[in-house]
Amino acid sequence: MSNSPIIRRRVDPRAERAARTVLTGPRPRLLRQPVAPTTINERRRDPRALRTAALVQHLPRPRYDWTRDAASPGTAAPAGVAVTAAPAIPLRVIAEPAYLVLAMLDRPGGEVSEHDRQVIAAARLLADGADAGGGGAVVTVATGSGAALAEAGSDRHVALPEGWADDYVPERRAAAASALMAALSPRHILFPDSPDGADVARRVAAAAGERLFTGVQSLSPDRATRQSSGGSLETGHRPTRLMTVAADAFAPLDGVRHEARPLDLATPMVAGEEVLPRLGGARRLAVDPDALALSEADFILSAGNGVTDWQSFAELGEALGATRAGSRVVCDAGHLPRERQVGASGTVVSARCYLAFGIAGAPQHLQGITGVKHVIAINTDLHAEMIKRADLSIVADAQDVMPALIRLIRERRND
Ligand SMILES: Cc1cc2nc3c(=O)[nH]c(=O)nc-3n(C[C@H](O)[C@H](O)[C@H](O)COP(=O)(O)OP(=O)(O)OC[C@H]3O[C@@H](n4cnc5c(N)ncnc54)[C@H](O)[C@@H]3O)c2cc1C
Repeated sequence: MSNSPIIRRRVDPRAERAARTVLTGPRPRLLRQPVAPTTINERRRDPRALRTAALVQHLPRPRYDWTRDAASPGTAAPAGVAVTAAPAIPLRVIAEPAYLVLAMLDRPGGEVSEHDRQVIAAARLLADGADAGGGGAVVTVATGSGAALAEAGSDRHVALPEGWADDYVPERRAAAASALMAALSPRHILFPDSPDGADVARRVAAAAGERLFTGVQSLSPDRATRQSSGGSLETGHRPTRLMTVAADAFAPLDGVRHEARPLDLATPMVAGEEVLPRLGGARRLAVDPDALALSEADFILSAGNGVTDWQSFAELGEALGATRAGSRVVCDAGHLPRERQVGASGTVVSARCYLAFGIAGAPQHLQGITGVKHVIAINTDLHAEMIKRADLSIVADAQDVMPALIRLIRERRND
């Protein structure tokens, strides 16, 4: 078989019709005999190459610039061609901030959460607000470097020790926040209204003897509001120095680039190990992932009708430490209990990762995973709806992938 590419010419039906049309009489007539097909000397569009050419940024999420004339018809960019540099988002530098707004982030497990980004967006409202004169800078405080926070809106960054990422010791973070409060005199300090962030905020407020305005849902330099009485009342207040920001109240910023420059502190801001937790027994407990309610699970391993090797499915769940779930078909067939069903008539989940083996992605199933952050699909059918929904897909037999993954995990653990 020849390896030369097949170039199909595009047929132009309008041109063919025009060639057969005779306009001599009162009405146009169409000649019966076929005419030689008119072709436009164009190659067919290659959507993948067009997409590659339009890609202007890989990370943290792909961005495309469809206004570029990177691949006109017939000149599709071949795979592997280097993509030209992205039109850079202008860097916004606040060299001499008039005042500071601190954002004390959770950064659970070292990852910047959506709630963290929302807190930075809220802090920007206070830093940029025209009513407050603008010109303020947002200082993020979290474990890890500030690089990942520049596109979320951070001007300066204070890095907390890496070891604090997974510990539940709110006293330490509260001591660090109090030290920063004394050293930098920020106009506001915002915390996520999350279990951890709210714990820290209350300790800081108690230590400073200041009022804490919790669960802020709207914010401007001269007014902060939150809902109460089950949403039937709105409480408004002039923004206090210490506030916690409700989840999903502010849209994370997009298309901005700030410095997230490490803040030079004259004195060490992070209180040392001498700050001992008052809760002697506070630590995170390892729980059986299958004992978790599906709605609370963070990592879900889910099976559909394409799974037949249930032994491997159970072993993979154990190896990954994931909560097992399935489509309606497998629950109806008795492979998993009814309360493990994901979907419109099952449970709506909001996991960070949903690993779907052999699930077609019926609308009723997809309704159950709208809130999932990352979907990974394993399916033999490239055109399955679940593959379209997924961020990452493996087009292969689930029965091959499951034991391969288990082997890999065990090898890594033994290493
Ligand atoms: C009122 C109503 C409510 C419903 N509620 C729900 C609900 O809450 N949740 C729910 O899930 N469904 C629900 N359904 C059912 C839903 O419509 C689908 O029938 C069901 O989700 C299909 O399950 P499935 O994807 O596991 O199976 P299938 O549709 O049979 O798909 C199996 C998939 O596995 C792939 N596959 C096959 N073999 C392999 C292999 N060896 N390796 C990898 N992949 C393979 C196939 O390509 C296919 O994509 C509801 C239906 C109705 C009418």
